[in-house]
Amino acid sequence: MTRDLINTLKHLLGDAHVLVPGTMPEQALTAYQQDWRKRYHGRALAVLRPETTEQVAAVVKLAREHRVSLVPQGGNTGLVGGGVPDDSGTQLLLSLQRMQKVRQLDTDNLTLTVDAGCVLQQVQETARQAGLLFPLSLAAEGSCTIGGNLSTNAGGTQVLRYGNARELCLGLEVVTAEGEIWDGLSGLRKDNTGYDLRDLFIGAEGTLGIITAATLKLFPQPRARMTALAACTSLASTVRLLGLAQSRCGAALTGFEVMNAQSLALVARHFPQLAQPLGARPWTVLLELSDNESETHAREQFEGVLSQALEDGVIEDAAVAESLAQSQAMWHLRESIPLAQSEEGLNIKHDIALPVSRIPDFVAACDALLAGQFPGSRLVNFGHLGDGNLHYNLQAPDGMAPAVFLKNHEHAVNALVYDQVMAHGGSISAEHGIGQLKREELAQRKSPVALALMRQIKQALDPLGLLNPNRMI
Ligand code: FAD
Repeated sequence: MTRDLINTLKHLLGDAHVLVPGTMPEQALTAYQQDWRKRYHGRALAVLRPETTEQVAAVVKLAREHRVSLVPQGGNTGLVGGGVPDDSGTQLLLSLQRMQKVRQLDTDNLTLTVDAGCVLQQVQETARQAGLLFPLSLAAEGSCTIGGNLSTNAGGTQVLRYGNARELCLGLEVVTAEGEIWDGLSGLRKDNTGYDLRDLFIGAEGTLGIITAATLKLFPQPRARMTALAACTSLASTVRLLGLAQSRCGAALTGFEVMNAQSLALVARHFPQLAQPLGARPWTVLLELSDNESETHAREQFEGVLSQALEDGVIEDAAVAESLAQSQAMWHLRESIPLAQSEEGLNIKHDIALPVSRIPDFVAACDALLAGQFPGSRLVNFGHLGDGNLHYNLQAPDGMAPAVFLKNHEHAVNALVYDQVMAHGGSISAEHGIGQLKREELAQRKSPVALALMRQIKQALDPLGLLNPNRMI
């Protein structure tokens, strides 16, 4: 039966696009079967690479007929193990990477419709060439895909101003668990005709349907962009700086990232070539202002905020980028933190959201508890403070093998951190999703009513449980 299925799939997609483990070098499949962090390693029955929505629909129908489950995958940059198959050798991995067509650019409606496999950077570039902006931006943008971004409801560095992936999407095309094609590729900003199906599939991590295309919102390109780094002595000061910048710049404040000393120390260790203009400080903030008037207006606003902050003792020092290259270097510094962490070795990641007002108390309480119970462990705390999202990660003590640290302490560290997150009114997943990594935590910490509703939705849309089973719920 399996051989029949594989042969039919080869007939449908072409031999070159059905990769079967055991018939080819394992390295050729690693990029699909192992996650970005090299934490999850699976084995697929086959890796499928369709090029059209119709092919995806036919694959889903076949999988359904044979009662074989499917794991959708985009750029495989997800950080919670949601897009790699399990190790049973029975799941089909459905890679959307060959679906790369730009379907329609509507500059009057400010929308762009693309295939799900388009790489985020390619989408940003298509918008830029039309003099427009697609603002979703994250460090994995050279590899992650629009389908993956929407399935994880990705956040990134511009959420403060433009919202996350959900808010940047107007319409979807989805292949349902029955293999039907739902064409919801609307460019409408208003459409109150019943349940919002689009929003069900966004953030569903491939458990409810396969996203094959999306209509995305575009924005005018700002006339000027300014970037600066500012040094603060405490996290409470960074929150004060955020308030000051928001009150003076309003929606023009498009980025507000914080980095603790340990984050930048790791960058200095692994990427010594990257300049750190303010040197080692307890907290460094990266601010970005996007102005629709002029460069002069942007500069005046920015300098107004920074000089007021210096005068009020909110910041100790600041460096304003004087060129595009300097601005890019500042962002590069921030974006290099996850890469430096990865170079340092496996670590315990917490992608958490909190009300901004409670972040300093949360960090003070949690830092103290962790230091007491896991002495020597290194807190790498950075993230999108502007929207209340911290990457509150724990690296093994210097000299201890990361794998040993994780094996012995991951469970207890997570329990401690997530208890504090809940006590401070937060969420255990801000932007990376649930996948395999946080499935048990979700089951324990989400309200029983919410979990029951989620299970009913899954049951209604995928009654056979063939779409990304055992992920998320
Ligand atoms: P994949 O990893 O391939 O898949 C992710 C999930 O979506 C899986 O559950 C998969 O089954 C499902 N899926 C993928 N495509 C489809 C589809 N077409 N239809 C249905 N389901 C699908 N994330 C952020 O939100 N903000 C950040 O700032 C951020 N920074 C990152 C930095 C680095 C260095 C790295 C490596 C990752 C970062 N991420 C960040 C995480 C990751 O890049 C995002 O989750 C991204 O949206 C995943 O896209 P992808 O195409 O790689 O999806």
